[in-house]
Amino acid sequence: MQPRPPPDPERRNPDLVEQDGVSEGIEALPNRISRYSKAKKTAIDIAEYIGRLPAGQLPPTTLNRLQSCGDYLIFRHFFTVDEVKLHAARLCKQHLLCPLCAIRRGAKALKAYLDRWEVIQAQKPALRPFLVTLTVKVGPDLLERFRHLHAAQRELWKRKHRQYQCALHGVAGAVWSYEVKRGSGSGLWHPHLHMIALAESMPDQQDLAREWHAITGDSYIVDVRPIDQVDPVRGFVEVFKYAVKFSDQSHADTVHAFLTLRGKRLLASAGCFRGVVVPESLCDDHTALDGLPYVDLFYRYMPGGYTLT
Ligand SMILES: [Zn+2]
Repeated sequence: MQPRPPPDPERRNPDLVEQDGVSEGIEALPNRISRYSKAKKTAIDIAEYIGRLPAGQLPPTTLNRLQSCGDYLIFRHFFTVDEVKLHAARLCKQHLLCPLCAIRRGAKALKAYLDRWEVIQAQKPALRPFLVTLTVKVGPDLLERFRHLHAAQRELWKRKHRQYQCALHGVAGAVWSYEVKRGSGSGLWHPHLHMIALAESMPDQQDLAREWHAITGDSYIVDVRPIDQVDPVRGFVEVFKYAVKFSDQSHADTVHAFLTLRGKRLLASAGCFRGVVVPESLCDDHTALDGLPYVDLFYRYMPGGYTLT
């Protein structure tokens, strides 16, 4: 059975990541704190679930880091320009297990690629961004399905380099990320990938579906749509949101996805999107504001959420 095509990204609320990269004034801070509180609460729930598992399923450091992730957050408010930056925090960087780190990782990658897109746009004004989604048929074995998707994507790019006729022929650059979840009807694993493809004209969805089926042998569901050039964030955020959706899956699935996919590269790029560096730190970079006066706001996580101390 084939999964249904992915829902219209414009109608699906891409929630946390988008807001994290965009609103930076003090008036946006309460919402930001409330998003982080929710994420931290879920991280604690996941840590409690892991704590109840038989010993040895996960390394002890994984649990310790998850438990203490984001215990405190220090925001720096540069009040003369009204910009709030996450200045310091101890974060676990386990984005497949920790919703807080997933938000931060997404926001950092979003910003890095939006910055690059601005530069590319100035250099090659004829290029436009398109959102391409490639899916594989659902299956019971996550690792097997993920490898299938990964190998098919590699083959697609090999074809692009070899053949004039490839459906991605006109694509000058792309960045893509892998996402895994269970299919809503089947309950089976449904890995897929979202890609921003830069081209002068929209890749043909029919051609791409045909080629994707020829490569995968079992899957033809693809989706191609333009990204709004005036406000590209909504399109870009599809690619830089979570690799897993914590709120939609059981903690058991979260742990399984973590154990299956950890260490794998889930974000990749090609062509003129190649070489974008996503900073290691999950805090905000505020070097451009250094020298301006600021106030530090220290938040500690309490059972009810983050509290200013
Ligand atoms: Zn974390």
